[in-house]
Amino acid sequence: MNSFGAFLKRKHGGRIQRVSIDAGFTCPNVDGAVAKGGCNFCDNRSFSPSRRVRLQKVADQLRQGIETVRRRYSKVSGFIAYFQPATNTYAPVEQLEEIFELAVSIHPEIVGLAIGTRPDCVPDSVLTLIERLAKTSDVSVEYGMQSIHDESLKWMNRAHNHAHMINAIDRSRNRHFETCAHVILGIPGETHAMMMETAEEIGRLGFDAIKLHNLYAVRGTPLGTEVLEGKVEMMEYDTYLQTLVDFLERIPPHVIVERISGDAPPDFLIAPLWCLKKSELRLAIEKEFERRGTVQGSRWTPPSIDPTFRPIPTDQTPDAIRVQIDQRGRLPVLKLQDQ
Ligand code: SF4
Repeated sequence: MNSFGAFLKRKHGGRIQRVSIDAGFTCPNVDGAVAKGGCNFCDNRSFSPSRRVRLQKVADQLRQGIETVRRRYSKVSGFIAYFQPATNTYAPVEQLEEIFELAVSIHPEIVGLAIGTRPDCVPDSVLTLIERLAKTSDVSVEYGMQSIHDESLKWMNRAHNHAHMINAIDRSRNRHFETCAHVILGIPGETHAMMMETAEEIGRLGFDAIKLHNLYAVRGTPLGTEVLEGKVEMMEYDTYLQTLVDFLERIPPHVIVERISGDAPPDFLIAPLWCLKKSELRLAIEKEFERRGTVQGSRWTPPSIDPTFRPIPTDQTPDAIRVQIDQRGRLPVLKLQDQ
């Protein structure tokens, strides 16, 4: 498996740690731009539309995060500022520029940015900004693809479809930043064959990296309620292990595997509890590859069209989102927080 830790070590010559930042973004799937309520698995109670990007808060989080990592690991060669919760490209583009520039410049050991977002929330203006940042720093854009099956996206209340993902990745390619797909395995109603179709799409669309998660339920979410009421079941450990290895065999060998399972703090996690044992799962995957005599990419078939030659489509960002990013203008609270 082409693991993330080993990739970063090869690239930077030492251990690189991510520092997670909550920069105060909200989400178009929560504030009503495309839907309300958010995804059924997402604890988005804090993403109120009145949340605002705060420069000072970002700077403090980065400094504190770096100190915490340093106390835990003695040998760290650098850090990645990871914009993680909510939709981190959902703000006026000049405001995004200010906040991302701050993150890459605040500490000499920050080597790059990771930006988590939705596939329907990257108009060309945002991609142009990220492309420019990627000329001087490592930048990864993490797209919440989850599945290629629209019925699954509907079940999760994602409020976008797979066509948005294809449009976003086809406009992101060849812009010098890394593209990462976030995928969930174990969505109710998805057969093994459907999950393998999602695996094959990773190579077809030319993603650079992948984050694989088992579906898991946390307290205070619609999914959590359904699991507690016995209406939805989570994947069993053994099924997940087999499905995961089947999936990894079908993605290209060069794709970086950034995650192999999802989890949440024990106090919030409802199910499945096995996902708390991450290192056990990692060892079990290695053993299963060994038992099968396969590796990542063993069953990958290169696509008929090299992804780098796929045509660049026109921007299909929904108008309700584009208006927020391209026309809303600068939020006055940004300056207030910066003083
Ligand atoms: S798109 Fe992301 S941030 Fe928005 S509700 Fe879904 S999981 Fe949460």
